[in-house]
Amino acid sequence: MTLIASHRGGSLEAPENSPTSFRHTAGLAVEQVEFDIHPTADGQIVVIHDATLDRTTDGGGPVAAHTLAELRRLTLKGTTADRIMTLPEVIELFRPTGIGLRMEVKYGTDHRPYPGLLAHALRLLDAAGMRHRTVITSFQAPVVGEAVQAGSLAGTIWLVAPAVLDDIGPAGVVAVAEAHAIPHVGIRANRLDDAIAAHLRAAGLGLGAWAVNDEDAIRHMLALGVEVFTTDIPTRALALRAAQEPSR
Ligand code: FE
Repeated sequence: MTLIASHRGGSLEAPENSPTSFRHTAGLAVEQVEFDIHPTADGQIVVIHDATLDRTTDGGGPVAAHTLAELRRLTLKGTTADRIMTLPEVIELFRPTGIGLRMEVKYGTDHRPYPGLLAHALRLLDAAGMRHRTVITSFQAPVVGEAVQAGSLAGTIWLVAPAVLDDIGPAGVVAVAEAHAIPHVGIRANRLDDAIAAHLRAAGLGLGAWAVNDEDAIRHMLALGVEVFTTDIPTRALALRAAQEPSR
């Protein structure tokens, strides 16, 4: 069965990476919740997508230039009073549920990995006993390789940006994954066809998709039998999967 991950808490059903969206997701029959992490200026980890605050909060500037106390004063856009969450808060929200974590390790405004961010996040997961229920993802293959080496995770996925797929092709994707011992790649759904899927699978890679939102895309990914996909409309994906697999 193709697993469904609620992307940023289901960002077309509730404001992304917010307490509202994560509570929404916690009530759904999805297998995973996807979210994104950045460090604060004072050594905490917060859950937000962009490296800057401008798009999704009433603040501005780089996330990593602010302390947690400063970030807590901001309101998340699309909500009346939702505050940015820390990684431990998101972990605790989902720990009592059957939902696994799909944690995307983000990078700074300079597009470089944040030194030590993954290792810090793994320590927080370990403190909650949640590492084995967590899949680590990143668009940066070396970061995914670091997660592979760390081990004891539910999975490790290299997210292949469309521009990267264009640049290096499926054979290049396989080579990069092998170079970092990465077992699974995620391809943007609108770039994933039978030929690319066959190429990656023949190389022994696990295959997933992301940005799977419209009905045609959801049906296509279910028909391709990808292992997992992220969607911003998890209720739609769940309904279509249930219709496809009435025995479930
Ligand atoms: Fe993400």
